[in-house]
Amino acid sequence: MAQAKQITPRAKDFSEWYGDVIAQAQLADYSPVRGCMVIRPHGYRIWELMQRALDDMFRATGHRNAYFPLFIPMSFLAKEAEHVEGFAKEVALVTHTRLRATGKEGAGAIAVDPSSALEEPLVVRPTSETIIYAMFAKWIQSYRDLPLLLNQWANVVRWELRTRLFLRTTEFLWQEGHTAHVDEADAEREAKTILAIYRRFAEEWMAMPVITGVKTDSEKFAGALRTYAIEALMQDNKALQAGTSHNLGQNFAKAFGVQYQTAAGGLEYVWNTSWGVSTRLIGGLIMTHSDDNGLVAPPKLAPVQVAIVPIWKSDDERRQVSGVGDQVKTDLEKTGLRVELDVRDSLKPGAKYFEWEALGVPVRLEIGPRDLASGQAVLARRTGGKTPTPLQGIVAAVTAALDEIQAALFAAARERSEKNSIRGATKAQFIEFMKGSGGFAYGGFCGDPSCEAEIKQQTNATIRVLPDPEFRSKEAPRTCMWCGAPSVAEAVWAQAY
Ligand SMILES: [Zn+2]
Repeated sequence: MAQAKQITPRAKDFSEWYGDVIAQAQLADYSPVRGCMVIRPHGYRIWELMQRALDDMFRATGHRNAYFPLFIPMSFLAKEAEHVEGFAKEVALVTHTRLRATGKEGAGAIAVDPSSALEEPLVVRPTSETIIYAMFAKWIQSYRDLPLLLNQWANVVRWELRTRLFLRTTEFLWQEGHTAHVDEADAEREAKTILAIYRRFAEEWMAMPVITGVKTDSEKFAGALRTYAIEALMQDNKALQAGTSHNLGQNFAKAFGVQYQTAAGGLEYVWNTSWGVSTRLIGGLIMTHSDDNGLVAPPKLAPVQVAIVPIWKSDDERRQVSGVGDQVKTDLEKTGLRVELDVRDSLKPGAKYFEWEALGVPVRLEIGPRDLASGQAVLARRTGGKTPTPLQGIVAAVTAALDEIQAALFAAARERSEKNSIRGATKAQFIEFMKGSGGFAYGGFCGDPSCEAEIKQQTNATIRVLPDPEFRSKEAPRTCMWCGAPSVAEAVWAQAY
């Protein structure tokens, strides 16, 4: 690791802090291509662990993975009116297929071969509804072919001018689920099943509490009937949309002619859903747990869960402590834990601690000659606290510590999220709240898009979701928090990423 640069404290500049944590933990870097990021091995490992957990849940609910092309004929995007409007301003296009040598030197040595222009330009997928439903039209004939439950792990491109690593990049990695159903009820059930999976993943794996609910029409996915989302509050009190699940109705089925023969012999359009989470989740993980010393990774998703740092002065001691460290590593790995033994001669123990801390490793075991003499190691938690721990039974102690850390991170994040939520605020209090610390504001909403737009324009806060029943206030609000008209639903506002 390069010489450590001080991490900007969160209180000083949250955005600088975020960048410093990513740099220190070597999660990602800016690339020579503007707007695109390079995900480095430590960051990519987190993504792989996320993928595995989510993929298991998708598979357990009957979904199968497939892969569709990166390129989509431009005309496909035009088939669903709302959809094209939503994505038209951020697509990358392939218009030519060849370069030619110009005979010049340097940067001008090659140029686009004008004779290679494509008859129909290809869009680099911003999302794959169109190409997938074009295929569904071929594959679905009868009610017996339904439901069709597919998922794809892929990259997508949405042209961005501003870059924020993991949160907003032109190219990002994600999964997109696409399903077809016989009727609205089945599609709705699917959209909700996925929302529940996303919530479970956020809470049980990422230790990131979320609010679930439905988006308003102005915030829903372009082309969807209804969009459900999970929303989490980051440490700077901005909301992060962490996953969305859409009931697409029959919009795409009609645009792409996806019809099936019913049991009674009639012909019907299918109902579709689509849903996705992306590498943005890594940004959410960072901003939920990390501190001024760097990354804090929840144990279940930590690329390295335990770092063992032997301490020695003489060669004899080095042999001894390393030998025991190696044995402990083997024992821990037998239970499926991800462990590193740090026997580098080039670094002092203190420097090693600093490094493993910045990498977010939840548990560090320090083993020195004196520890060995008393048959113990020192168990240090990334979240604070050092405990002498007998080597006899160290596997159980480490496992218990990891479980406790996972649970404590979730509890702390939930407490922070609740502490930074207000309910039943007046308009004046709401304005004050959004100008000040910010957070989740629960209140009545009249349902009028122009009221929603005015709130956004004046406070920069948007409705994150109309929350599901378990998140709603005990007493339903009677009037709109902003305009005073009768409330049609409780809403949760926040400034968002
Ligand atoms: Zn209103």
